[in-house]
Amino acid sequence: MTKRILALILALLLGLCLCACDGDNTGNTDGKTDSSVVSGSSDTASNDTASTDISDATLTIKVKKGEVTKFKSNRPYDDSKEDITIILVTGQSNFTTSVGFSSEYGGVANGKIANFSEVPVIPEKGTCYSSGYRSAITVLSDDRDMNKLCDASRLDNTLGGVSPSFGIEWNKLTGTKVVFVQAAVGAVGVHEWTPNPDDYICECNSNTQLYAKAVEIYKSSYNALSKNYNIVYTGYIWNQGEHEEVYGKPECQSTVNSDQGYYDAYKSMHYGFMSELGLDFGGISVVRADKAGATAQGSMSLTIARNAQYKLCNDIDNLFMISTMSETCAASAPLDMDKTNTIHYSQATFNKMGADCASNLYKYLGLADQNAQFGGIEVYSSVAHKLAAFDKDGKAIGEAVVAKGLFTNHILAKLSTLGTNYRINGFSLIAADGTDLSSHVDDFGAIDWTAASSGRTIKNIEVKCVIE
Ligand SMILES: [Zn+2]
Repeated sequence: MTKRILALILALLLGLCLCACDGDNTGNTDGKTDSSVVSGSSDTASNDTASTDISDATLTIKVKKGEVTKFKSNRPYDDSKEDITIILVTGQSNFTTSVGFSSEYGGVANGKIANFSEVPVIPEKGTCYSSGYRSAITVLSDDRDMNKLCDASRLDNTLGGVSPSFGIEWNKLTGTKVVFVQAAVGAVGVHEWTPNPDDYICECNSNTQLYAKAVEIYKSSYNALSKNYNIVYTGYIWNQGEHEEVYGKPECQSTVNSDQGYYDAYKSMHYGFMSELGLDFGGISVVRADKAGATAQGSMSLTIARNAQYKLCNDIDNLFMISTMSETCAASAPLDMDKTNTIHYSQATFNKMGADCASNLYKYLGLADQNAQFGGIEVYSSVAHKLAAFDKDGKAIGEAVVAKGLFTNHILAKLSTLGTNYRINGFSLIAADGTDLSSHVDDFGAIDWTAASSGRTIKNIEVKCVIE
């Protein structure tokens, strides 16, 4: 009897020891090992493991605190009129209305796939309206009521994508009628959305004047609707960046072929819209990495568009990251893609993404009863390997000394929760001997390890978070 108890205790102790050792060796806070993340790296996790007490350099993520202030429109208000919100929908195919259901329905009809995921959610009559494709909406008529347009009995003419669920949620939250001006166009690049597309070169050889068209249809809509309604909220929402995975590679002879190139192009569009249209906000539903995106982790890999979109939302006051749901999309679960087309989300995913965008936007604008609370940050490698995580006070959650082999030449630092006004505000890299290596980390999170390691050995990096 005594021997059996002793054996049991020994077995338990051994088990505990194995678990602890595993955690120490991986340097991986999500508790999973993934050999794929270190392939292609000169260092490997197996022969270059992190130690909890020795770091050769410290990478600090700076976070800027920010208060959410309640948005209030200063446009004229007439008590006798109904309230509306106008949302300009921009970007490439995933933010058009012909993705999701109508595409999946087509796939079923021609026998390509067995069934479509879900039909679009249907807004109640009189709550949500949509313009036609790249046209103005000047009257809120039954013809433009999404209660009718989103009905799946319209088959491949059904209005699908992100707008139905966004509209339902925004209407529920604000009580305003929601009017969408549909300006997104399939396959286009960010250069085509700038106010000056002729000044750009792109290997796609296209330079459609998307910005000018969006301005034209938004203005026509606004001018007509403002006569009969109080326009309480106005903004644009954006989902785009798959184009740059093809035409924005560093070796491409394109103006937009770097994080900075995408950032600059987007910024010119953003400030153009804000000033020319008098919008209240912009919102980005971050693009997923299409080319690496067969798995959810692949969807979260870094691309120039994704790097730029995160930084833009960090840098610009009235621009918000309204959804990161695309990062959990994969060929199958947790959120699926259109089985007929690997770039587009399924309608089932859009039915969640739109509501996510609307509810986060509502929090950013300080309209919720309780403001969102900052929940800390997470730090990922460019292949979406979680390197470290920090709580709301900047305290490390689990291991924060990471083997250099797990780092890549680019990292993503992101807020764990959306809806606050906290922003990632830069990086510093300091060697163990005190040398400041911060010039080898750029503002997008790209790290030149070759230059940083010149004349010194960097095997382990302690990741820290400072909330300023
Ligand atoms: Zn292009």
